[in-house]
Amino acid sequence: MTTPSTDPRAEPQAAPGTEPRPASLDVGAPRLEIDVSRIGHNARSLVERLGARGIGVTGVTKAALGSVDVANALLTAGVRGLGDSRIENIEVLRQAEITAMVTLIRTPMLSQVARVVEHANLSLNSEPVVLAGLSRAARERGVDHGVVLMVEMGDLREGILPGDLADAVRITLRLPNIDLVGIGTNLACRSGAVPDAKKMDELSALAEMVELAFGRRLDLVSGGNSANLSWALGTDDVGRINDLRLGEAILLGREPLHRQPVEGLHLDALTIVAEVIESKVKPSLPWGTLAQTAFGTAEMAVDHGPIPQAILAIGEQDVDPRGIEAAGITIVGASSDHLVVTSNELLPVGSEVRFRPNYSAALRAMTSPFVRRTLLPSAEVRPVDGAELPAA
Ligand SMILES: *Cc1c(COP(=O)(O)O)cnc(C)c1O
Repeated sequence: MTTPSTDPRAEPQAAPGTEPRPASLDVGAPRLEIDVSRIGHNARSLVERLGARGIGVTGVTKAALGSVDVANALLTAGVRGLGDSRIENIEVLRQAEITAMVTLIRTPMLSQVARVVEHANLSLNSEPVVLAGLSRAARERGVDHGVVLMVEMGDLREGILPGDLADAVRITLRLPNIDLVGIGTNLACRSGAVPDAKKMDELSALAEMVELAFGRRLDLVSGGNSANLSWALGTDDVGRINDLRLGEAILLGREPLHRQPVEGLHLDALTIVAEVIESKVKPSLPWGTLAQTAFGTAEMAVDHGPIPQAILAIGEQDVDPRGIEAAGITIVGASSDHLVVTSNELLPVGSEVRFRPNYSAALRAMTSPFVRRTLLPSAEVRPVDGAELPAA
């Protein structure tokens, strides 16, 4: 087993001047390779195409664990600001002296309002009691805190029901040191409710209703996340929507509704690499009396006779095994620390297999203390988050 680093955020990021090392260098496995230039390309492409339609991009860093390098790539690509769901990640960005506008995109915990007004310019909100807490904390600090009120539009995650929006606006406008910047919604996360033209027209109409009723302009109407891209890139009329909060599409190059590639984006900015620790020809069927496995009931195996089977040193603790794929490799089982695969040829012990992760797998790899995260600016490999390179 690799030695886990403790909190991946506890150790400083590698300095920008870190010596470039060849990509072939063994930096340990399992690892998540992050190609920052591809992420930057994806962000720039989306910023340009959405910008032509009047929509700005909030670059979401949560799936990159608030990585400073990813954040800088997004900012260089022209995002209007950064968004993260965790105040801890936002604090890491601030410690790295990132001064860009940062939005906390999960409604703040009441217990964290002081940290939120200190480090985030804006937060997405849906609870009056939290707004009051933010107001008190902002007043104590002598700052103004920007607020976006989230509207529930059918996905049944966060948001104020549309019928209650006017009341929430009224409450918000009365709070000292709180600046109502706009409204927003989030779809296709919990229930898969699609952010289509109808929903977006409804959000635009709500923005106009608020403006009319309260006689003030809303600067920000944030339509949603990567799942809004099909709508945003396909419609002739974006209405009042002028912001999308994008994470997955930038990192993985796909829209999340049908996980189709977005034209012009890299699909391979993230790669998970695992090492072979056992490789043998084994029967394709288990034997003996069969009951439950470590993770429930095994899928019924099919008898193909003896087949090359390998174990990779990666498992549920590192990655979502259902969310990775590699050419020529069939995943036949996974437990906490073992990934069992078959292939046409025997894989040599010590060799590495490279997988393409989906969002779920990338997220788990990013947050597992066992997975090294290495940045690939073109041909260079260097560690992030405290992952250590072996001595040269
Ligand atoms: C995670 C999240 C996003 C980004 O979603 P992607 O699908 O990664 O683009 C946007 N808004 C909110 C509120 C989120 O929680």
